[in-house]
Amino acid sequence: MGLYDAAKDAANILKEAGKINEYQKILDLIDDLFNKREEIEKLKAENNQLKEEAKIKEEYIFKNNCYWHKESNDGPFCSRCFDKEKHLIRIIPRRPGSNNAKCPECKSLVNYTGINESVVFRPI
Ligand SMILES: [Zn+2]
Repeated sequence: MGLYDAAKDAANILKEAGKINEYQKILDLIDDLFNKREEIEKLKAENNQLKEEAKIKEEYIFKNNCYWHKESNDGPFCSRCFDKEKHLIRIIPRRPGSNNAKCPECKSLVNYTGINESVVFRPI
């Protein structure tokens, strides 16, 4: 028998015995238990999210305006999307060989190589 069933049974016994004040206290207790249970579920979800974020922060480093996986060097991932919304979004180079890449989600454009775009010299 669960806690709620036990409380419900106790409430029914009190109701049948005409102990309305005690009956109401048990109903309030049941209501409080439901609220606490909801709160615990919400805190568990928040805790899992924070653990996941902490794990990502441990596994990735910020370098050249982006996040990269520490071991595999997988990346680059958008720093804005991760810092603001905790999503790892892969950014895409504008064209082959480009030092700039764009996030398909937030449209941020960053230099992900740390190398400046080559200067185009015009013949005189
Ligand atoms: Zn982004």
